[in-house]
Amino acid sequence: MTYFLLSITNTCNKSCEYCVVKPWLNNPEYPDKATADDFISFLAKEMQSGDVVELTGGEPTMFPGFIELLEWLKEHGAKVMLRTNGALLDEWRASYSNMVVVLARHDSDEIYMEERKACLLPQDLVIDRVEARLMQTKQDKPVFVSDETSPLKTHPFTKMFHITNDGKVRFMSCCKDDMGTIWDYRPRKYHCCHDCPFALGAWNLAARIK
Ligand code: SF4
Repeated sequence: MTYFLLSITNTCNKSCEYCVVKPWLNNPEYPDKATADDFISFLAKEMQSGDVVELTGGEPTMFPGFIELLEWLKEHGAKVMLRTNGALLDEWRASYSNMVVVLARHDSDEIYMEERKACLLPQDLVIDRVEARLMQTKQDKPVFVSDETSPLKTHPFTKMFHITNDGKVRFMSCCKDDMGTIWDYRPRKYHCCHDCPFALGAWNLAARIK
């Protein structure tokens, strides 16, 4: 099984103090280059039904072609995770039971959160605040804490890809292995750590999808 972490846009409507992608966020030096069609072309070569695809950013709901990408993933049997601050979260969420939404409050107020929560399905999660012990301070040192929402301590992934919105394909940041871009991708020997916190977090979320 393969896990895809897709950072589909550098655009965001917020500027959180603890944001780990801040240097790239809304920065004209790092414009989005990959379109929904680019992501889909790559996934069509690499993804199998049942694989896990995590959509993040920036704020992924602000990516042009976001719904097109969701539709393709649903049609092709992907389990999807969406990490969002709720910016454009709306009634469309109900169309994707193959997806778990992780809605983060950040600095949003209660009225905003209640409106967004009304769009969620039972499998979804709300993060009202980021606890200090879970705060990710380094890009290549993600934190994974096992609790009642993430009880699984192993994952089934043998392949993992991190694809950014400049189209770059690489293994996870812990490996520092550059595979080029989704336009000139050349497969290499695959690698996936059994205790990878990215993968454990993803698999615990995917397991919420019935
Ligand atoms: S909402 Fe997310 S991507 Fe946007 S600034 Fe905050 S942490 Fe970063």
